[in-house]
Amino acid sequence: MSPRVYCCLLICLLCCCGTRTQPVPQSQRPGPSRVTAGKPREIGELSQRATRIVREIAELRGWDPSLDVTLETAGNSRLEAAILADEESQIDPAARQAEIELLVSFGFVPENFDFERDVTQRFSRDLQGLYSFTWRRILLAASRDYKTVESTLRHELVHAFQDKYYNVGAKVRWREDQGDRIAAIHSLAEGEAICVARQLEDPLHRGCLDTSSDDFEYRTLGEGLQSLPPAIRYALLCPYVDGTRSVQHLLRQGGWQAVDYAWRGNLNSTRELLHPGQSSLATMLAIEAPSTATALASCHLEYLDVLGEQGLSSMLFDHVDPGIATQLAASLISDRAGVWRCGGSYAVAWRMQLTLPKHASRVASVISASLTPPLSPLPKSPTCGQNRNGVTSLLVLGRDIAITSVHQCIGENSQNPTVSCEEAENWAKRLIGL
Ligand SMILES: [Zn+2]
Repeated sequence: MSPRVYCCLLICLLCCCGTRTQPVPQSQRPGPSRVTAGKPREIGELSQRATRIVREIAELRGWDPSLDVTLETAGNSRLEAAILADEESQIDPAARQAEIELLVSFGFVPENFDFERDVTQRFSRDLQGLYSFTWRRILLAASRDYKTVESTLRHELVHAFQDKYYNVGAKVRWREDQGDRIAAIHSLAEGEAICVARQLEDPLHRGCLDTSSDDFEYRTLGEGLQSLPPAIRYALLCPYVDGTRSVQHLLRQGGWQAVDYAWRGNLNSTRELLHPGQSSLATMLAIEAPSTATALASCHLEYLDVLGEQGLSSMLFDHVDPGIATQLAASLISDRAGVWRCGGSYAVAWRMQLTLPKHASRVASVISASLTPPLSPLPKSPTCGQNRNGVTSLLVLGRDIAITSVHQCIGENSQNPTVSCEEAENWAKRLIGL
């Protein structure tokens, strides 16, 4: 989900990795691996297991085993509260809504999509556990079997170590134009947690170097996501899949030391994560506000971000063959999206530049087909479509794409500004520099 909706949908199935680190008050901060809820016997047993796993992780990664993290067993409502606390500290609600609006505008999620209802509440029921950066504690779902708790502890304790060593919680907090960089860091965090847990579980200690279980997380995590819009589903899965692939590559290159270098390096994009050795040389694309000559003169910018390769691939996966989706996303040189609130309307723009014109044409065709109703078949460009809520225009010029959309907010009435196809197309032209 990216973004970042796709990629900044940092609510995770195995953890929550998207929040500012906010120290728990001293009075709530017991020593390493203290357990705060449960029957005395359970507390003692869980504490011992956590202490042992902390030592195992520290030995594998060459880390100091002292770790200030609290554990608790939690029911659904407590897990949901932890997710919401991390979400609230991660991203402003207006920016979160604007992210969703971006996806709605271009047909990737339905108009009635509600993040809290459809994702947060839904997945608090399926979570095995999570590490809350905001609370700096691990929550384990109650009534899980021994093996599941063992596996969950390994994964979440790695996140606790990442918070200690890399201040991950602060690094993945949403900031304007940083979505793609955050997605890359989030993916590295998930990849490391998965590969450490795998290596500790593997009697032969191959971990991620044993490629026979490569798609395990994808299959396991994907099982609970079928009810979600595909773009959201893939956005939630991408950090696990891309991160594991990336850490697997690093381990082959130089073992865990190479992973340490990746953390200390300047990871700026999912392109760098997915294509080691390739740097992000592209300059930031300019993105213009809606024209002040129109009824949208009083617009307020609420969201500006880079979706990046991972974000684009999340949107393409359900529409083309996975290999094609990966190839098209990899051809993305640069992109940028903006969402403005204009009274009772949203004005949305997305600008992309791809390596080749044929890639731009294919990506534009996917977007065109995802709209309801679909836009006129390309190559007519610009093309524009109207539905009951507003207009959407799409312009392809060589390897450049510009898409604009102006829509009434759900529930708003006819007092909203009316924008014509001509105005939407003119805005798209200005985005591309025509
Ligand atoms: Zn995780």
